[in-house]
Amino acid sequence: MDPLFGLDQQTMFRVNALLLIVFAVAFAFAGLGKRDRRYWGLLVTSNLVFAVAFVIFSRRIDAPPEALLVPNGLLVIGLGLRWRAIRTFFGRPSSSSWFLLLSLIVALGLMLSDVLGKGLVFGLTNAIIAAQIVAIMVVLSLERERLSSRWGLVFAYGAVAASSALRVVQGLVLERGMDSLLPGDIFLDLNLIAAAIHISASGAFSLSLAYERSVVGLRETALRDPLTGLYNRRSIQVMSDICKDRTAQRDATLVLLDIDHFKSVNDNYGHVAGDEAIKRCAELIRDTFRKDDFVARIGGEEFVVLLPGKDVNYACRLAETLRKAIEAEPIIFKGNRFKITASFGISHGVVDSHSFSHLLEKADTCLYRAKEAGRNRIEVDGRPAAEPIKAPHVISASTAKRRASPARVA
Ligand code: GH3
Ligand code: MG
Ligand code: MG
Repeated sequence: MDPLFGLDQQTMFRVNALLLIVFAVAFAFAGLGKRDRRYWGLLVTSNLVFAVAFVIFSRRIDAPPEALLVPNGLLVIGLGLRWRAIRTFFGRPSSSSWFLLLSLIVALGLMLSDVLGKGLVFGLTNAIIAAQIVAIMVVLSLERERLSSRWGLVFAYGAVAASSALRVVQGLVLERGMDSLLPGDIFLDLNLIAAAIHISASGAFSLSLAYERSVVGLRETALRDPLTGLYNRRSIQVMSDICKDRTAQRDATLVLLDIDHFKSVNDNYGHVAGDEAIKRCAELIRDTFRKDDFVARIGGEEFVVLLPGKDVNYACRLAETLRKAIEAEPIIFKGNRFKITASFGISHGVVDSHSFSHLLEKADTCLYRAKEAGRNRIEVDGRPAAEPIKAPHVISASTAKRRASPARVA
């Protein structure tokens, strides 16, 4: 059976060039008005460079190696631009000098193919191309950002890497030069099919990679509190799912805390100073708990920490450390210096989508108890009320003085 499905190689080159132009237009639209314009610009340029190379190949299908110097050099430059595009997408530094140098080496090799041997030059040209593709695959595979579309791109590059590797074998082992391969060369047919698969797959997955990132970014923004960077109230919906992922037993301890007499902070020092106190409190929470514990700001000055797989004693220890840190740390804001305290409610239980709200309710009841019992204290679900803490609520050394005067926003 004809591997090109009845199409000749010339037509296949041109079809591929057309596909490259179609995707170049799609990339240009994708980059319009975006912050990552450089990434899209590099993709557009690489596609146009490939398209020009393919058109030249199509016109010189049975030309000697020296005549293929420009299109082969363009292939190397095009792949270098792709490499740069992917590095740019992931925020990594990149430079063009190495692939411009490679393209010069390829051009030089092709010029000297009579001296060096056509098979060798052909094999080495394809080896350089294959190495570039492998470099791109490595960059994609090593990235930590969790975007599954990159595996589609690895597949797209894998297809051309495999066909280029075949060309290397063809040149170096079979020692056949380009002029004896074209146009009746089955390997070129495979190459052209692999190129068609690559162009479509890399085009589609480059677009979906960016789409995936923007969806992840939007989701993250929707779940984050802009003031503190912590998760927000909406994120509570996903809390139980996260908990399920992290612990086999699906049990967790929940710590709920609320800043004491926060209204008077706003009244005495102004809303902006209040915001500063909320931010500082969020930082202290983050410093106290582990990175992968779930910390959210679920109300004005109310926070929740979910500790998957952790018992009440562990949570109490950390909550006490946090309580003391909040109590000890003065908030300094535009000439004002004041202190805050917080009350805590702790509950423990199995977490799933049904029981999570129950866990939160229990912690809320404890928090209420802590407030009732004098604030700046921790109450645990199922335990008798704790002894009152001697120095209950300290807003600031100067609160009394400031309360006498109107609130001042610096
Ligand atoms: P309690 O000890 O009983 O918790 O007393 P409280 O004054 O803290 O009482 P409550 O929790 O009812 O009051 C919370 C106040 O927090 C009310 C609101 O003015 C203020 N607040 C809510 N969101 C924000 C915010 O984003 N920034 C600032 N600065 N204040 C906020
Ligand atoms: Mg409060
Ligand atoms: Mg509150």
